Amino acid sequence: MKLSEVTNDFYECDSGWHNIIDNVLDVIRQRAYTHDEYKDLEVLQIKEKLGDLRIYLDYYDDYLSGVIHLASKLCETICEDCGQFGFLHKRDSCYKTLCDDHAKAEDYKLCWIRTKEIKTKKQYENVLELIEVFMDENSENEELDKLATMAEAYEKKHYPMD
Ligand SMILES: [Zn+2]
Repeated sequence: MKLSEVTNDFYECDSGWHNIIDNVLDVIRQRAYTHDEYKDLEVLQIKEKLGDLRIYLDYYDDYLSGVIHLASKLCETICEDCGQFGFLHKRDSCYKTLCDDHAKAEDYKLCWIRTKEIKTKKQYENVLELIEVFMDENSENEELDKLATMAEAYEKKHYPMD
């Protein structure tokens, strides 16, 4: 869909993130006035995936990659339901960024997959579960590699080879 035609009907996520996405698209539209290469820019998809915001375009430069990365970083701590401060949560194999109230209301449990280092057995188990989800989904290898590396480091430390 053309950048100028995108409205929030197109967003495949709940309304707590809409404000951020609106703002991202606005700054890109503003820049399009002075950047001819954005003239035919298409927005392929805007969606929530495994608790993260994903924005897919048909063209990227450093600026576009940067603002999209920033938006998805911001959404890591914003409740997808209400826009308040939130954390990643999990219910069965569903991941969603939620505030405490919405997590309770929807029966989601706090989840730690954004941690850089696994510190507890619980986090380790969460990571193993997530690796399985990623493998089933055939998701991006970059994330899978990162999780596998974290799990390996934890195993080396806590389950040394006999
Ligand atoms: Zn909320």
